[in-house]
Amino acid sequence: MQLAHVQWESFIDFPGRVAAVVWTVGCNLRCPFCYNGELVLPRLAKALPEISPERILAQLKERAGFLDGFAITGGEPTLHQDLADFLAEVKGLGLAVKLDTNGTNPDVLAGLLERGLVDYVALDVKAPFPRYPEFTGVDRDVTGAVQESIALLRERAPDYELRTTAAPGLAEADIEVIAQAVRGVKRYVLQPFFVPQGKELIDPSWAARPHLDEETLRSLARRLSALVPCQVRA
Ligand code: SF4
Repeated sequence: MQLAHVQWESFIDFPGRVAAVVWTVGCNLRCPFCYNGELVLPRLAKALPEISPERILAQLKERAGFLDGFAITGGEPTLHQDLADFLAEVKGLGLAVKLDTNGTNPDVLAGLLERGLVDYVALDVKAPFPRYPEFTGVDRDVTGAVQESIALLRERAPDYELRTTAAPGLAEADIEVIAQAVRGVKRYVLQPFFVPQGKELIDPSWAARPHLDEETLRSLARRLSALVPCQVRA
């Protein structure tokens, strides 16, 4: 498993917990609005420092008394063959585990749920399913896999959320279509789009597209709450 960044203490990445956060390298999507190009594009990933899973585990052991959670994000963590074994070691330290995923690997997700290796899953719904190619940057149809992952979460996850970043070009009507499609899920989170300082989008031209602001999302979330428990996380 290639790990590139670690944040030892976060109060915002794992709801209700103080968590360490680790970023994996590699992704099977190419969302044009993604600002983690160095984790996604192999030509940029080459320049990243490599952090071994062993080093993370050793440091987690030292800090376990100050943490009660561990979040793994990316990139796309489920691409890594050794993810389950790594998370088993993390769980062995007494930490609850949160997985961030794009939902395209339902078989891996099913295995993690089966083994009780994840306590919370945040699954990104990038766009209304018919608009996935535009918002994921890949032509192959991943929507069946994403829907399978959503069904798995509904049936078997201890806790989870679906979330949509209000990416440039997503309109209120698009988010309403998503909310309709995921009716019945436990939690639907809307996130305003932003680009951290010094970061560039995978497709820089998307920065000029309009995007929904936080206030609009809050009013949208209130309306959508009739369909699905919906909140904004800014
Ligand atoms: S935003 Fe898209 S391209 Fe970027 S890491 Fe997430 S799934 Fe991969």
